[in-house]
Amino acid sequence: MIKDMLEDNRTVSFEVFPPKKDGEFKSVFELLDTLGKLSPDFISVTYGAGGSRSHKTVEIASYIQNTLGIDAVAHMTCVGSTREDLLSVADSLRENNVTHVLALRGDRPKDMSDEQFAARAFAHASDMIDFLRENTDLYMGGACYPEKHFESFSMESDLNSLKKKQEAGAEYFISQMFFDNDYYYSFLEKADKKGITVPICAGIMPITSAKQLGTTITLSGSSIPKRLSDLVATYGENPEDMRKAGIDYAIRQILDLQENGVNGIHLYTMNRAKMAAEIMAAI
Ligand code: FAD
Repeated sequence: MIKDMLEDNRTVSFEVFPPKKDGEFKSVFELLDTLGKLSPDFISVTYGAGGSRSHKTVEIASYIQNTLGIDAVAHMTCVGSTREDLLSVADSLRENNVTHVLALRGDRPKDMSDEQFAARAFAHASDMIDFLRENTDLYMGGACYPEKHFESFSMESDLNSLKKKQEAGAEYFISQMFFDNDYYYSFLEKADKKGITVPICAGIMPITSAKQLGTTITLSGSSIPKRLSDLVATYGENPEDMRKAGIDYAIRQILDLQENGVNGIHLYTMNRAKMAAEIMAAI
């Protein structure tokens, strides 16, 4: 079980996403074959917030679990889902021998009206975890935010929400990406004081282009330390140098986290096998 793995070992795991274009879908299996050879402890697969492409997540998770023989964690979101939708995805996962789920609320899809958002079946990830615990035998993890979730007024209120997810049955947490380890250490301390006892995995996203830095800040809200913005200013115009510098930054972050005894590292691979291989070789 992922929880035991995280408690016993210092794990390294990967995140992949289902390619958006159907024509590119097959390439994900080649990617997984390469990632599999790097022997991660588990691989997680993202899920569209609206849930309409959930079958892609299930298909990829099934390949990881059954063909590669590596533990798969299927992300599931509830913002656009009914109870029946979630049970149907849970059944498909079960049929495919996938028992681990990262239970998320998901961001509000652009085409969701205020009324639909207000009337959603599951207000928060903790409600979904509660529901899946009662109605399935899936093992669940949840998301956490070292710099707080953008909708929360304070770290304190976000940690209260995190505690609710733990109480509902989340067995571990995977963190939002962060680029300054001090934020992460401070978060771990606060989570510990709040009574978070389940293992927490550190989410690491290598920044390999100037463009990616912009999108990442918009999507994650994570702070960018001067050291990282300086790298982009220096190497941003030269793609290969920027790639190397970004990977080197992520490696240093990971080595520091490992030295400080974190439970696990979850690498946001962005479906880039070469980058993942370079990082694994260095750590
Ligand atoms: P929640 O835990 O519900 O939290 C959302 C907000 O509500 C927070 O501000 C929280 O403090 C507050 N809150 C929570 N519970 C309560 C409560 N009981 N009472 C009051 N306030 C509460 N998105 C995708 O669409 N697909 C993915 O595959 C995906 N994978 C992700 C993986 C990781 C590791 C992370 C960190 C995020 C991922 N996301 C994904 C993004 C995620 O869906 C968004 O960040 C979303 O906005 C919040 O999801 P959540 O599960 O953290 O929500």
